[in-house]
Amino acid sequence: MRLVFLGPPGAGKGTQAKTLSEQHGWPHLSSGDILRAEAKAGSPLGKQAAGYMEAGKLVPDSLIVDLMVERATRPDCRKGFLLDGFPRTAVQAEALDKALAARNAPLDAVIYFACGDVEVLGRITGRRTCPNCGGVYHVRTLQPKKEGVCDRCGAALVQRKDDSEAVVGQRLATYRLLTEPLIEYYRARGVLRQIEAEQSIGAINEELAGILTQVSARPS
Ligand code: AMP
Repeated sequence: MRLVFLGPPGAGKGTQAKTLSEQHGWPHLSSGDILRAEAKAGSPLGKQAAGYMEAGKLVPDSLIVDLMVERATRPDCRKGFLLDGFPRTAVQAEALDKALAARNAPLDAVIYFACGDVEVLGRITGRRTCPNCGGVYHVRTLQPKKEGVCDRCGAALVQRKDDSEAVVGQRLATYRLLTEPLIEYYRARGVLRQIEAEQSIGAINEELAGILTQVSARPS
């Protein structure tokens, strides 16, 4: 199944995408993770992207579109993919649609994770991540077994620079301005499904499973 997860930062898109990817084998394509890996590796793209990311701004469409479209059209995505964090602008959404239409493989659904600003702020500023394996935790709601240490690989957890309170406001403003209009873009194309993302991880997971059952039962 070809899915896009849309919603504000901290709405739980990455957490749900990881679980679904493990359950179904669809690659989890997180544009943020891909850009962070490029920045860590010091590639030319990573170096260009780093400044925007640290400031909580979107990297230019010209840097991200080809990268993500190429990734979503690789052979391992033939049975499906989970796009998380891409598209984030109208230009990106149109480029994705065009590339998928050319392959006669349109999106099956766009899942919109609806989550208010207060909840988002609490989730992002409490988020801790593993710089080694990408594991994600939360200081209150998703604690590791040993405080400050990743359950999976034992590395010390950190707060992403752009998860600090100083940057979160900018990220949310960018989301409302440039990404939120995609809700209507996809609603108009009949692929939008909404999830109440302020629920617990388990409840969101159940709601998502129900939506996917409906989507896969739909005649194509
Ligand atoms: P995320 O992990 O999805 O919150 O993304 C972290 C940062 O990576 C964002 O704040 C942007 O600077 C950059 N980024 C990720 N995805 C995109 C995208 N689709 N378009 C532009 N910038 C992006």
